Amino acid sequence: MKRIIIFGECMVELRTQHGDTLAKSFAGDTYNTAVYFKRCLPVSSVSYLTAIGADFLSDELLLKMGEQEINTDLVFRSNDLNLGLYMIRNDDHGERTFGYWRSQSAARQTMHLLPDMKIDGDWFYFSGISISILDIEQRNMLFSLIEKLKKDGCRIAFDPNYRPLLWENEEAAQEWIGKAYACADLAFPGGDDHLMLFGHTCADDIFTYLADKQIGEIVMKNGSVGVHILTEGKQCIVPVERVSAVVDTTAAGDAFNAGYMSARLAGKSSVESASFGAKVAATVITYPGAIISESAFKSHIPPIQ
Ligand code: ADP
Repeated sequence: MKRIIIFGECMVELRTQHGDTLAKSFAGDTYNTAVYFKRCLPVSSVSYLTAIGADFLSDELLLKMGEQEINTDLVFRSNDLNLGLYMIRNDDHGERTFGYWRSQSAARQTMHLLPDMKIDGDWFYFSGISISILDIEQRNMLFSLIEKLKKDGCRIAFDPNYRPLLWENEEAAQEWIGKAYACADLAFPGGDDHLMLFGHTCADDIFTYLADKQIGEIVMKNGSVGVHILTEGKQCIVPVERVSAVVDTTAAGDAFNAGYMSARLAGKSSVESASFGAKVAATVITYPGAIISESAFKSHIPPIQ
């Protein structure tokens, strides 16, 4: 059984249902990937590495993770901090605006709360958001952990998921995201992220920037335009069937990554995995919220055996 460790922050999600009525759930970029990964490949073991608080919402999250069959062996607790929170507002086209209350969240102290223990897995997945929420000392601790994991044969997957407001400045984001790419075996650059952070306007710009980072497999997402894959010097484009009835694009990229990685870990080719990832993402964006119900998910995506 393959073991994947996914590192980051899960928050309380509040989403407008109608008028002033809000729906509560739990989400966060890497957590969304963890949930969808487990749904796609139930035979895998998924551990979420994070810190939560001592508040009742943290307790609820822990229960939720159990329901989603995500291992909580790497969930650590802060006694005085809380779970972060965010709100989503969607416009009529499904595009979203976010508001965050996460600056004092427990997850921001994950590396300090992580005891001295052996961590091992086949894959370790993290994102630019996972790095951005840590202070410099903890970012260095994270990269030391990644170095150790790599020495033990664990492979690294990374999505830059650039959120300018979470970074102290653009230069820091460029530096740390560059560092993360340099240790990745599998990378998921997003067209919008690279445009915002590096001014890259096409796949070639991104592949040129990544050329010296020695990443075995690069999977570039670009909305409904298609997925560009660069592996072993060969480039190909996998078309994406455009969804016209988009309800909520939250977690599209997270779901894509989950689908792609689960298929790859199950032995599918990169092209098959991209098609599967696109199907998972297309399903998620036709329902509201980051994490859609298990029954809705299953009705479109049969799990990989
Ligand atoms: P992010 O959510 O990181 O900004 P993208 O917008 O590139 O990422 O979307 C991630 C994936 O979601 C795409 O690779 C594609 O498979 C799928 N996707 C996004 N928008 C659409 C759409 N309108 N129709 C079909 N698939 C889409």
